[in-house]
Amino acid sequence: MGQDAAGRCGLLTGVARDADGYPVTRSAAGVARGAAATRDLTVLDERISGCRACPRLVRWREEVAVVKRASFRDQDYWGRPVPGLGAADARIAVVGLAPAAHGGNRTGRVFTGDRSGDWIFAALWRAGLANQPTSTHMGDGLELTDVRICAAVRCAPPANAPTPEERDTCSPWLARELELLPQLRVVVVLGGFGWTALWPVLAGAGVPLPRPRPTFGHGAEVTLTAPRGPLTLLGSYHVSQQNTFTGRLTEPMLDAVLSRARELAAGEA
Ligand code: SF4
Repeated sequence: MGQDAAGRCGLLTGVARDADGYPVTRSAAGVARGAAATRDLTVLDERISGCRACPRLVRWREEVAVVKRASFRDQDYWGRPVPGLGAADARIAVVGLAPAAHGGNRTGRVFTGDRSGDWIFAALWRAGLANQPTSTHMGDGLELTDVRICAAVRCAPPANAPTPEERDTCSPWLARELELLPQLRVVVVLGGFGWTALWPVLAGAGVPLPRPRPTFGHGAEVTLTAPRGPLTLLGSYHVSQQNTFTGRLTEPMLDAVLSRARELAAGEA
């Protein structure tokens, strides 16, 4: 498997690529096709990084990357969809809402470079799922253990609010990502948006869904029968500043959810 000068793997042939070499996807149908055809997380990350299927989000992420925040004016923004982070042998997935305009959209790494990321990476470190409590930029030495972090929507949305159509357009990327984690046992869902986004994703993966759908809440726990065995969803309030500044989400509350995720992943339920 050869890599180009930028480190991309070049596994896809015959696919239109953008100026930086990423394969371009331009429509919801293209997202569904591209996700279904992907057999490997590395290729999935490449495909996500080149996606342009949501015109409003593409305009926003690229405008933010040019205008920048004054404090980051000397940095090159990523300005693309943000792929997931963590190895394919993860038994735990953490699903957030979407990248922040000056966080993941700047650094190119999920939850990295903003206050929400400070919270989640510190909690992962306390739980023994990360080798350091901070994630500041690519190449900062961060390594995750047994966890893959991803998002329901991969492009930074204006006002942190993707539309339902954008959520649905992006969902095949998440569906495929979860399918490409063969040992997945637990999904920690950060916030009600991700909780709602996950049901059609799971249904598409052949998971029978409970009726009525379980209500989202902090500490919510639902075990489903997935084709590969039991899969437990754990709800947590999102690590947004709105929740952490106000005390709606505290460190012990988040630690309790991650501790439960570890127990379940280890089969100690
Ligand atoms: S939100 Fe998802 S589907 Fe829409 S452009 Fe970004 S990566 Fe593509």
